[in-house]
Amino acid sequence: MIVENIKQVEENIKQACEKVGRNPEEVTLIAVSKTKPYTAIEEALPSGILDYGENKVQELCDKFDILPKNIRWHMIGHLQRNKVKYLVGKVQLIHSVDSLRLAEQIEKEFAKADEIANVLIEVNMAQEESKFGITSQETEELIREIAKLPHVRIQGLMTIAPFTDNPETNRVYFKNMKKLSVDINNKNIDNVSMNVLSMGMTGDYQVAVEEGATMVRVGTGIFGERNYNI
Ligand SMILES: *Cc1c(COP(=O)(O)O)cnc(C)c1O
Repeated sequence: MIVENIKQVEENIKQACEKVGRNPEEVTLIAVSKTKPYTAIEEALPSGILDYGENKVQELCDKFDILPKNIRWHMIGHLQRNKVKYLVGKVQLIHSVDSLRLAEQIEKEFAKADEIANVLIEVNMAQEESKFGITSQETEELIREIAKLPHVRIQGLMTIAPFTDNPETNRVYFKNMKKLSVDINNKNIDNVSMNVLSMGMTGDYQVAVEEGATMVRVGTGIFGERNYNI
């Protein structure tokens, strides 16, 4: 089941790329395994997918300990400053940096281990009250501050679009995200790269790919519905 789902998602990504003349190799599929047991990831591994997304530090660390060390772990959920230390040496990319204070904590903990943390800046494109992330207007200023931290490397931007039954309604947010990343890239800020655009989930990843996503985060579409009551 899981492997077939992945094949289907990969096929959909390929078709979205073809539609707009992109190379599917530009798009990394992150399988969002939050709330699912580690055995679900073991089931997914034969598909060749090595990028997995978690939204809780504890769960990421538990799965890190059990599963093969070539897995690339993505922290995609809101990150509390007191949990940053547990991610050192374990995380490929932190998608959810939305304040200087959090970035400074990441700097402190990764510097201790003489490691560089790769991060994305989370932008709340639709300005939903319920979501974390900064506004697009605040993005450049925050990036200029974080860029000064030697153990933090900004690799791009991340957004969580509104939940919707019609993915077309999110196209405008993905378009504006891409534009924001191009604008910031054109400023040539030292220590900042805009190679990654993490956007698109089960409901809207094809539209996100059409608008320039380089990472899509798909959970339900791969692992099935999540059960939060267990
Ligand atoms: C849960 C989650 C996803 C995956 O959501 P699905 O709709 O199940 O694909 C993607 N990104 C973030 C930040 C999430 O928390």
